Amino acid sequence: MSDISDTLHDPKPPRHGEPPQVVVAESRLFATRAARFRELQTRLDEMGLFLGFNDHLARAQHRVLKERQADAFDPQSWDMALAHEFPPLAPTALIETLDWQADLTMLLDALDRTLADEGETFDAQRALLATPGKLSERREIARAIVEQKSIAFDQRALAPLVGAALQVTWTRLARSLKRLPGRPKGAAQGLCPCCGSPPVASTVQLGRHRSRVRYLVCGLCATQWYLERARCSHCFDTEKLDYIGVEGPDGKRALPLRAESCGACRASVKLMDREWEADTDPFADDIATLGLDVLLEELGYARAGFNPLLAFGDAQS
Ligand SMILES: [Zn+2]
Ligand SMILES: [Zn+2]
Repeated sequence: MSDISDTLHDPKPPRHGEPPQVVVAESRLFATRAARFRELQTRLDEMGLFLGFNDHLARAQHRVLKERQADAFDPQSWDMALAHEFPPLAPTALIETLDWQADLTMLLDALDRTLADEGETFDAQRALLATPGKLSERREIARAIVEQKSIAFDQRALAPLVGAALQVTWTRLARSLKRLPGRPKGAAQGLCPCCGSPPVASTVQLGRHRSRVRYLVCGLCATQWYLERARCSHCFDTEKLDYIGVEGPDGKRALPLRAESCGACRASVKLMDREWEADTDPFADDIATLGLDVLLEELGYARAGFNPLLAFGDAQS
């Protein structure tokens, strides 16, 4: 396998056999994630209800992704953005024009139906679904999420649902791109080439052409883009990185991830290794390891991963 860094400034697509620089999400992204939440639920008793709710939320996302078509969008403006090396799906611009509210409405309905299968377990959450806030309030939350700002305290219960709907809308859009952007360059290499959002985490991949290759994963549209290993995804430093993992009570690695933590900028972003567990999911495993974020904060690192399902409190401020 040749070194992908050779192609950093090469606008041509990668040659046959080279790892792709940018990969959009698969159609079964959310179904696969739901399965991962169920797997994590069997291993992390104390988080059972929370992970169970997220399993149902991912199932509802899968349903909405499958059932709605992408918004009509002018392909010329995509081409223009790509020609100027801007991410074509920047949410701060599109959030006023795309019909993500239709995805949210459908998501709340699908979620209510799937939660109903669990009897009374999720009655409190179902009550919230019946009062999902005014349109203006939903818009306010959505804008705060895509701009990674703090969510007002009384809006925090609704925020993960709005975040989940935005993920569906942007994943569908990224999947509908006829031509993919190249790997981002310079100061933008830590931001999604499709939508410009920060990564939730990164993954070391498995499989043909991608074995042991590291990709950042967009928190919003789940697009993956290549970044060299052992490089901070926030400031790109390669010298002062520390890797902090999660150990179980037996002292062994509990989950297939470590936090790539940078002594230069003090940012920390989780790194999931698919060689350790092939079905690790950056969003699900991130949510299952919130305890690690507390430890990192105590060590003086700031969480830099962007997960719209956790869009509340200090982590986003
Ligand atoms: Zn993106
Ligand atoms: Zn750094």
